[in-house]
Amino acid sequence: MPMMDSHGLAGQVARSTAMAKALRVLILGGTTEASALARLIAGDARFDATLSLAGRTSAPKAQPIATRVGGFGGVDGLAQYLREQSIDAMVDATHPYADQMSTNAVAACARTGTPLASFVRPPWTQRTDDRWQIVPTTTKAALALGAEPRRVFISLGRQELQAFAVAPRHHYLARVIEPPDAASLPPGLRLLQARGPFDRAAEERLLTDERIEVLVSKNAGGSATYAKIEAERALGMTVIMIARPHKPAGHAVKSAHAAIAWLEQRLHETAPRSLRGV
Ligand code: NAP
Repeated sequence: MPMMDSHGLAGQVARSTAMAKALRVLILGGTTEASALARLIAGDARFDATLSLAGRTSAPKAQPIATRVGGFGGVDGLAQYLREQSIDAMVDATHPYADQMSTNAVAACARTGTPLASFVRPPWTQRTDDRWQIVPTTTKAALALGAEPRRVFISLGRQELQAFAVAPRHHYLARVIEPPDAASLPPGLRLLQARGPFDRAAEERLLTDERIEVLVSKNAGGSATYAKIEAERALGMTVIMIARPHKPAGHAVKSAHAAIAWLEQRLHETAPRSLRGV
């Protein structure tokens, strides 16, 4: 039997103990990608994952892994959470427009030495038959509607509807997952409560029945809400598209399977933080 020095033996013991311990993972969620990753990681004993939600919807979809809700308190709060919870790796699966959370994630991971992977969802690309007007902010979108009253379909988060109060002459229909506080909304705004995904035929019917002239949208990318873009194209409608913000990222991943593959590398690379005493 070959001799083994104490360092090698200790290393082997540490490695086998590490193999028995699950990698503690924090997933920043609120998107279809985060839910897909949660489904894939649930029940995989190699990982001990928690999904974090901002708390924008009061009744989020049930998730198959532990969930926490609400902000961390900026970079300091997130760094403290990573240390206190002995998080070994983080996956940022927030929405392409959630740039503040991603900025905080990159900074907190750099400060604590936590590996970070980030979902990068490609934007929709404008085709020659699309009539997009690209604007930098929601307020600029409201102002771009112009002086003449128009029938406008707003496909944004409920917290962004108040921006349209600066242009009250238009007829607005806004689709939201849950109703906003009515106090700051433009007077003529009607709400349509619905949660995607939506299909193209239904989107075309809605835009036609409501005699919509302009769609206001973010360039979310992905398939869940693309039907409205196909519908506006078919109907020759104008879209006021709010430009994507700069969203800082760690190691880029495009799917839940790619995120799992990246986490597997972290498993092989390091003993969990909980064993390193960090
Ligand atoms: P944000 O502006 O990047 O984040 C603002 C703050 O919310 C963060 O600093 C953080 O607070 C907290 N936060 C955000 N995501 C969190 C998470 N997963 N877990 C814990 N805390 C979180 O992002 P946002 O306010 O959520 O949204 C920004 C834009 O993205 C909006 O335009 C929104 O409509 C859009 N969005 C769309 C979807 C969608 O599925 N359609 C989902 C989410 C967001 P602390 O600094 O206190 O940690």
